[in-house]
Amino acid sequence: MSNTEKNTGKQDADDTLSSTDIPRDVSPDDALADTSPLLSHEIPAGVDRRSFLMRTAVGGAAAVMTGSVISAEARTAMAVATVPQQAKGSPAPKSAAKGSAPPLSPDLDVVKKEKGPVLTTVDEFYKVGPGPSSSHTIGPMRITYDFYQRAVKVPADKLAKATALKVNLFGSLSATGKGHGTERAALAGLVGKEPATVDPKFLDSLRDKPDQVFQVKLGDKSIPVSLKDVVYDATKGDFKHPNTMTVKLLAGNEVLLEQEYYSVGGGFIEWKGYTPPKKNPPKYPFATMKELRGHADKNKTTIAKIMLANETSISGRSEQEVNAFVDKIIDAMVATVKSGLAMPEDDVLPGPIKLHSKAATVYKRAQDDKFQSDRGIGGLSAFALAASEENGRGHLVITAPTGGSAGVMPSLVYGLLEVRKLDRQKVRDGMLAAAAIGYLCKHHATLSAAEGGCQAEIGVASAMAAALTATAYDAPSIVVENAAESALEHHLGMTCDPVAGYVQVPCIERCAFGAVKAWTAFAIASNEIASRHRVNFDETVMALAQTAKEMNSKYKETSEAGLALSVTLC
Ligand code: SF4
Repeated sequence: MSNTEKNTGKQDADDTLSSTDIPRDVSPDDALADTSPLLSHEIPAGVDRRSFLMRTAVGGAAAVMTGSVISAEARTAMAVATVPQQAKGSPAPKSAAKGSAPPLSPDLDVVKKEKGPVLTTVDEFYKVGPGPSSSHTIGPMRITYDFYQRAVKVPADKLAKATALKVNLFGSLSATGKGHGTERAALAGLVGKEPATVDPKFLDSLRDKPDQVFQVKLGDKSIPVSLKDVVYDATKGDFKHPNTMTVKLLAGNEVLLEQEYYSVGGGFIEWKGYTPPKKNPPKYPFATMKELRGHADKNKTTIAKIMLANETSISGRSEQEVNAFVDKIIDAMVATVKSGLAMPEDDVLPGPIKLHSKAATVYKRAQDDKFQSDRGIGGLSAFALAASEENGRGHLVITAPTGGSAGVMPSLVYGLLEVRKLDRQKVRDGMLAAAAIGYLCKHHATLSAAEGGCQAEIGVASAMAAALTATAYDAPSIVVENAAESALEHHLGMTCDPVAGYVQVPCIERCAFGAVKAWTAFAIASNEIASRHRVNFDETVMALAQTAKEMNSKYKETSEAGLALSVTLC
């Protein structure tokens, strides 16, 4: 974290450049402004993919050249009509070969498109909970806690017959759950522990003494539960989501209560028949960055102020209450960096990798670097390593947007607040702008590595951190967008292949790279001529969604390929 003078000094000049009032993406005449067609490239069954894409592109280009408006659906129909049909029985195109991910169920709220405005709020998004994974640790604990709360409401005559509680993990939860402590998290939720308040020592005790039996009180009945009641079930199958699990209350073989759940990323959960909770309308509805920036620019205010107004209108909370929550999250982020840096230099993280902690060493040595810029990059990396190692230890972290990426945002928050000594209000504003980035990625793409690989975790975290930094330095909204876009763009395609299923390699160092890339994105965005930035954030989010969809499932948190295969543990 260096170059304060350069960035703040240059900022004034860039503000002039950035506020030229020729935003490159708000013209109603911009034929490329609507990014929705990018999502319409579903390849119809029996159609050659390459030919199809060529023809949709030609259809789109023709529409632009002739000035006519052709809907995505019409373009799809045109393309299908002109593409030779794949002969029945001929081999499937490569993209549909074995190994590509099964389609997500359209019933899932998280994959429904055309969902209207973003309605996520900060308290849903920034969650405190135990590492190492929001989808494989925090989500499953929230799920079993949810089931526990349903079970206590079962009529007393039924509860009187209950004998057991059973959890079955499927898909990615089963493939890599052991490395994420999913069984311990699931058991903790069953015995009534919540992620935000669970003592990580309780989870450690489950690892150290796995045979412990707990009594779950349901009405007058006590049901014994242990880790044996959490079953690692099928890893492959026709699941609605790769992170599927079921929870049952049993009387012998009779099922008294059963629920199928999905841990959909970032600690968010859904279940069969889920309908999103009813919320108040936002003051400034937006579903894209273009719309969000439109509100900010039209009202001559910032993205952060628009987000604050929406938070209060959607949740019904006051500005003070929203700020108090954001402060709690900021403090928790600072605390994870501090506690990570305070760990002994020879600490070894749990699990078979026997990975040595390096945050404290990197931090100390970086401070001795000859060049200020090296000290800055080393420090920023060390802060990210510190928070991410805390995640690897299963200690409390903050989903921003996930557990695996839990080092990225805290690194920048710590650097801005504790090193640069920026005003807290600037960091609060940054947290709201960062949330907007995460919301949009969740809204149109995914925050789940099991759906989209590491680009959905570290990529989104880096984009959020870039928006945080730009906002904290009072950058205009276009620079905030450009910084976030750059950071996300340069994570596209990044796969998830954690060694031995543990959120350590590559995850911990990857957080450091995500933090440094966020700073780089801010440095570029605040020094370039903002209106000349060629790619907009909405386009990159669509690319994230498309890349996630087409990424081979082996690279989606299954530990079946990549580093998980090439790294040998001895
Ligand atoms: S590789 Fe990336 S997405 Fe996968 S577990 Fe690690 S941090 Fe998460």
